Amino acid sequence: MSAAILSGPPAAQALLDEARDRAARLPHRPELHVVRLGEDPASVSYVSLKERKALEVGLGSTVHALPDTTTQPELLALIERLNADPAVSGLLVQLPLPAHIGSGAVLEAISPEKDVDGFHPVNVGRLWTGDAALPPCTPAGVVALLDYYRVPIAGRWAVIVGRSTIVGKPLAALLLARDATVTIAHSRTQGLASLTRQADLLVVAVGKAHLITPEMVRPGAVVVDVGVNRVGLSKSGKARLAGDVHPDVAEVAAALTPVPGGVGPMTVAQLIMNTVLAAERLQAGERVTELVSTAAMS
Ligand code: NAP
Repeated sequence: MSAAILSGPPAAQALLDEARDRAARLPHRPELHVVRLGEDPASVSYVSLKERKALEVGLGSTVHALPDTTTQPELLALIERLNADPAVSGLLVQLPLPAHIGSGAVLEAISPEKDVDGFHPVNVGRLWTGDAALPPCTPAGVVALLDYYRVPIAGRWAVIVGRSTIVGKPLAALLLARDATVTIAHSRTQGLASLTRQADLLVVAVGKAHLITPEMVRPGAVVVDVGVNRVGLSKSGKARLAGDVHPDVAEVAAALTPVPGGVGPMTVAQLIMNTVLAAERLQAGERVTELVSTAAMS
């Protein structure tokens, strides 16, 4: 057997097309604002990808590139200004931040209504109460990928390997909300292989190249590989990437996401969708305020 490949780009394009259509129906163009500190090459490249995708679907995009000597009060003052600006629909601060800045305080300063990364504690809580207004991008992108390929979720046993706050834990909330039975494994889990072999749906977000081998996968399972690991350089000098799942798993699984080209493109597409979702809510709120003030005047 050779697994079906759940390729990210077509699923990501479908999400971007939906974001473009929904944005075009809004009275004001959604605007994504990204704050970046310093010139870390990975951050520079992620931020420019986000900007490119936003512009591609007709959103506005502004990058606030600040020096890495920016103080925490200066950064918080900028966030406060962007929170208060009605033209800003989505706001994110690119992580990691320099060591002198507390990322917790920064993430909490972003208005939950504009928090397109879905990292604010209010949005983390809403995810677990089932009102995921702005879900975190990678886990929501995984669910969107499964939906695009019509992979059933309800009633399935999902095993997630990895319990980070940006991937494993929020994905558990999203899959639970879709009626999967969810087990989360981590570095202290005993007998990992016996657990992963039970999974109908196995999602791996660990950061260890080829951790999951074919013997750890139930024949016919659907396997989603979130991991991105640099494993040396190609002949052209570019970084070679490997997932957390060994490629031979394709001989056992019914379906598998590739690395690169699987979950990665979904993450940025979901960020763009989140910007549109934030704009829809903010602009609906504006409309209600307008109606209330018109009613009060008449
Ligand atoms: P993380 O914060 O380092 O968390 C890794 C998780 O894996 C932890 O929960 C850890 O357990 C668990 N773990 C470590 N070794 C393990 C083992 N041998 N067996 C079972 N579990 C183990 O990582 P992350 O931020 O979630 O990212 C995970 C991977 O996804 C990375 O490769 C990252 O680059 C990739 N990623 C990709 C995207 C994308 O868009 N494609 C987005 C985000 C992340 P403990 O909690 O016990 O330490």
